[in-house]
Amino acid sequence: MTLEHAHQTLKKVFGYDAFRPLQADIIQSVYDGRDTLVLMPTGGGKSICFQVPALTMDGTAVVISPLIALMKDQVEGLRANGAPAAFINSMLTANQVRDVEEELLAGRIKLLYVSPEKLVSQNFQPLLKRLTISLFAIDEAHCISAWGHDFRPEYTQLKFFKEQHPKVPVMALTATADKLTRKDIAEQLQLNNPAEYIASFDRPNISLNVSRGQKRFEQILNHLKKHPGQSGIIYCLARRTCEDLSAKLNARGFNTAFYHANMAPKERDRVQEDFINDRIPIICATIAFGMGIDKSNVRFVIHYNLPRNLEGYYQEIGRCGRDGLPAEALLFFSYQDVTTYRQMFEESEAVQVQKDLKIAKLNRMYQFAEAPVCRRKTVLHYFGESYDKNCGNCDVCRNPPRHFDGTEASQKAMSALIRMEEKVGINMLVDVLRGSQRREIFSLGFNQIKTYGAGKEYSFEEWQFLLSQMLHNGLLEIAYDDNHCLRVTETGKSILFGNRKVQLALPPQPEEKAAAKETIKRQPNRTQLLRDELFDQLIALRRSIGQKQGIPPYLIFSDATLEQMAQKRPVTDADLLYISGVGERKLQLYGDAFIGATREFIRKKIQDGQNVPGSTFLLTWDLFKAGHPIQEIARLREISPITVISHLATMYERGESVEISDWVSPEALDLIQGALSLFEEPYQLKEIYEHFQQRFSYEAIRFAIADAKRTEWQQRR
Ligand code: ADP
Ligand code: ZN
Repeated sequence: MTLEHAHQTLKKVFGYDAFRPLQADIIQSVYDGRDTLVLMPTGGGKSICFQVPALTMDGTAVVISPLIALMKDQVEGLRANGAPAAFINSMLTANQVRDVEEELLAGRIKLLYVSPEKLVSQNFQPLLKRLTISLFAIDEAHCISAWGHDFRPEYTQLKFFKEQHPKVPVMALTATADKLTRKDIAEQLQLNNPAEYIASFDRPNISLNVSRGQKRFEQILNHLKKHPGQSGIIYCLARRTCEDLSAKLNARGFNTAFYHANMAPKERDRVQEDFINDRIPIICATIAFGMGIDKSNVRFVIHYNLPRNLEGYYQEIGRCGRDGLPAEALLFFSYQDVTTYRQMFEESEAVQVQKDLKIAKLNRMYQFAEAPVCRRKTVLHYFGESYDKNCGNCDVCRNPPRHFDGTEASQKAMSALIRMEEKVGINMLVDVLRGSQRREIFSLGFNQIKTYGAGKEYSFEEWQFLLSQMLHNGLLEIAYDDNHCLRVTETGKSILFGNRKVQLALPPQPEEKAAAKETIKRQPNRTQLLRDELFDQLIALRRSIGQKQGIPPYLIFSDATLEQMAQKRPVTDADLLYISGVGERKLQLYGDAFIGATREFIRKKIQDGQNVPGSTFLLTWDLFKAGHPIQEIARLREISPITVISHLATMYERGESVEISDWVSPEALDLIQGALSLFEEPYQLKEIYEHFQQRFSYEAIRFAIADAKRTEWQQRR
């Protein structure tokens, strides 16, 4: 097998033009018979890495996947592309399993998905022995490691692959594995000197946004209003919040549902199915939701509460924008979330080291949310990746904080704190600095201290922002064992006594104000989905086909594919095949429907008197199909008959059927096409006309060229 085959399959089956970074290397590694370890972020394109080898190599690839829902989704996706795939898991009846076995033994299945339980069961082993196996692919391979967070005991038995099938290459794939886990995966699977491929974890199409948790319901409403109809997940910490938020959003006219572990399994499955099938676009859920979901057109992920660590955060936001189109992650945070988690961790059964680790990770998460540093830079550094620029697609980059000499401001804060004997928390400190009239302040006598009201120049939010930076810079610390009171550190004292200076930043201006400036320095990065009327119509068409056929709409075509269709407006088969994500099978199944919709759209535009690019061919074509002779079409359209014929030739070239023998005889066709190699593209009709000493008409030449091109692209298929 060569990469040439791989490329052909990529185009033919999946409709994609090029491999993403590392995909080709990984596939080559399998072709070389090597064991391979693949680390790629969610949405990075892991599936292609084993699906393409599976479809090109002899025999059947066995894919291990821990989640039944995911298995079903992948198999449906493959079948929608005409790829012979099947699964065996506990969802099938004995009869269905027998059918799959028969197909397998007849060599008709290229990809077999199996749950780990089934794979290691007694009656499955003999079947494996009778098959020609091309490749073992283990998805979510981190489940094998007790170090990882999704440990699956059945996974540890998978070492039998290498023991019983030493010659078959094994590919282990995961989106979350640190060094230790990777080593563990390789050892436990007994991989033989595996090739390791680690992709960048950057997901540049996801815009990262962090906001303080004030008025989060309004902020969420704003987001949803700006993106009507889009699909997304809102993660909440508490089950109650999921239910309440969903109800509140529904009351405002949005179509949402909630999902958490306390619901009956049937109910949960129903919500998940409704989401996948675009019947309910928005789900308010705990993190129990999303593991088994491959839906590529999730456009946003909102965290109603702070996630417990950056690993979780990144995994959860990774569920949006898998199709590579602009997607949005929105995180709300408050210190209250931190306190809630701390309590949860402290009260858990875990041993102290584990609790400490959880708390350390939680603190990192909170720092991420608070620090006015490019979000992408912070999170990628956390995962050990170097990223030196500012991304241009996060809230900090779009609206950077305003740095200033913060020495005087911090001195005011620390001085006030010391005068209150370091017995207060953040809110009280801010109130005193701002000279609040709160009764408690008077009863405690804080209105008497010298710095009462000394910090009125900053708003409440600005002080919060400044104080959190003082915490990060080590000027202040929180006494967790003493009611979370603030303390001045040694570093803080050196600044208080004027020995050192400190740089602080004020919070960015509200986004609306900044927006005006933003247009100027906007990065080339596209941050919005290109939506238009046709796109919306295609989305609706996709939904109705999905509903009729009982498959999730995004498996018909991804948002990315529909977006391209809306821009390029394909009116023939050839046009459609040029679009990324349209393979042979989908052309056959859905080509007519989508071309029909595009044509209809263009015709409507023309009727409305609009000039639409590409419409001229279609107009001629419609008249021709309605039976008008060439001269008549020319008259009606006020163009020359030669132009009419040229339009017909173009439609023929692009896959429509035209009786070309009306214009060019078989002999002439042969002769003209035989001579084409003498000329350069784009062909000049006149040159060819003269080459043959005016023996053939212009029409004949035009159709001979069209026929050659038509054959060329059809052969490339
Ligand atoms: P992962 O399993 O790593 O989370 P997927 O395999 O589901 O990611 O791929 C994410 C999306 O990217 C899918 O919609 C897939 O079809 C698409 N994709 C993968 N490889 C390519 C490619 N070479 N060109 C275009 N799209 C691709
Ligand atoms: Zn950034």
